[in-house]
Amino acid sequence: MDLGTLFEFAVERHPNHEAVVQDDIRLSYRELNDEANRIASGLQTLGIGKGDRLLLVLKNRIEMVVLYWAIQKLGAIFTPINFRLSLEEVEYCMRDSQAKAVIYEPASEQAVTQAMKDVDTIRIGLCGASGANVSFDDLRKRGTDRPDRSAIQASDVCLMLYTSGTTGGRPKGVPRTHENEYGAAVAHIIQNQYRTAESTLGVMPLYHTMGMRSLLSMAFINGKIVMTPDYDATSILNILQAENISCIYLVPTIIHDIVNHQSFADYDLSSLKKLGYAGAAMTKALTEQCFERLRPEVFVNHYGSTEVYTYSICNYLDRKPSCAGKPGFHQRLRVVVADPNGTSKPTDVVPVGVPGEIIVDTRSIESFQGYWNRRDATEFAIRDGWYFTGDMGLLDEDGDLYVLGRVDDMIISGGENIHPLEVEDVLAKHPKVSEVAVVGLPDDRWGQVVTAYVVARDQSLTASELDEYCKMSPSLSNFKRPRKYHFVDALPKSAVGKMLRRKLRDEAVQNQLNTRESV
Ligand code: ATP
Repeated sequence: MDLGTLFEFAVERHPNHEAVVQDDIRLSYRELNDEANRIASGLQTLGIGKGDRLLLVLKNRIEMVVLYWAIQKLGAIFTPINFRLSLEEVEYCMRDSQAKAVIYEPASEQAVTQAMKDVDTIRIGLCGASGANVSFDDLRKRGTDRPDRSAIQASDVCLMLYTSGTTGGRPKGVPRTHENEYGAAVAHIIQNQYRTAESTLGVMPLYHTMGMRSLLSMAFINGKIVMTPDYDATSILNILQAENISCIYLVPTIIHDIVNHQSFADYDLSSLKKLGYAGAAMTKALTEQCFERLRPEVFVNHYGSTEVYTYSICNYLDRKPSCAGKPGFHQRLRVVVADPNGTSKPTDVVPVGVPGEIIVDTRSIESFQGYWNRRDATEFAIRDGWYFTGDMGLLDEDGDLYVLGRVDDMIISGGENIHPLEVEDVLAKHPKVSEVAVVGLPDDRWGQVVTAYVVARDQSLTASELDEYCKMSPSLSNFKRPRKYHFVDALPKSAVGKMLRRKLRDEAVQNQLNTRESV
């Protein structure tokens, strides 16, 4: 069955439940459905229908949710991208997806209108954006109460997300079918033990898989999603308290900002039952800080990707901090010999406790079958029915997974493998350290030298102080100690807050970093 029909079942079940909120706008399931019908019908008057890609360059606003369901009802393909992308990146995604229409707002207007200078793609402008053929209000006026529906199969593509680009190169389109998305939503509900009418915060962007999980899982359980086009730690805390939010799904960077908020202790967050995180590992220091401030049982580690959704899940972090747990609800995984050149096979399984590349079975209902227009990348990623995640990990004797970082972030120094996370975990615990990233930089003698980039909490911090601290650490072998430190004002991060170690390496090689000190 298709997502639009499943959504209508939910509307029939609880028409008056609140579905989506933004500031003082509150739409029930019935109102959201009516609005989605009108917009779907309005889109049809522009000739948009089944299989068409609509590129959305929008913030997380309520119209985005309406458009999502309108597009599902048409069997068209919701293709959201980051509204902060440059002109060149928007142009690339527009051409790559061969979008029939582009929907934008003032925040993305400049890049979009320039990217569309010489193409006759339909332009739909929101919130007064200029240069559009039609506005959101026009769509509403053109539409009727009921769009014409064509037959949609579970195997039809309903969504295309672009990978976030942490590993560099052009973003890759990941087409997702109705079945993939339904499977991921069901797994998300089960893995978080959601019940009817939970409430969440729509803070993770809808152009990222995490945003999509929040939107879809709430819809199927008649939950409420509070959209936040603009947010900071204060506004998140205000909404969590005022809207009695029961579950959220965030990247560690945002969790870090929330738990370090100066007034954190003044907020009543007793309604919060689940705090899922994904996108990156949480350092041990942040995990400990979280456990001091919120009940450990609320935390769930989701390890996954745009391509597959969850690989594994851990909801017993109090017993095993930083563990990525067991395979997700629909998943099967293995750890095999890691080879960045892509020669390892699914049968090259490594023994318990030995690090290797994590691979997952692509037969899962949530799993993808290949990238959009990128046969080369697909053949590299999917081998003999297994998706090679590009991540290093190891399984412990209980079959629990630990993620160690990217295969290509692994540092090889003097022939020894060093995973950035294990070094970062030690340094992050130093009271004068705010954030840290560890990379391997080229070195004639060692091959690579372990190098730490540190954002100091206290400007008096020195490299020798950190070096002493590492020497005293019982968990860090001598050969893993950073041999160089750079103090920086901020670390490079992706749009969803992932550490871009690749960027640090590239910039260091070009020697462009504005550093304060090194040893
Ligand atoms: P690109 O594929 O363009 O390089 P990306 O890999 O960052 O970008 P995503 O699909 O957003 O794109 O991210 C998936 C990756 O994020 C995983 O492969 C893993 O490296 C990391 N990740 C996700 N969740 C976790 C987690 N819970 N713990 C550790 N790492 C995680």
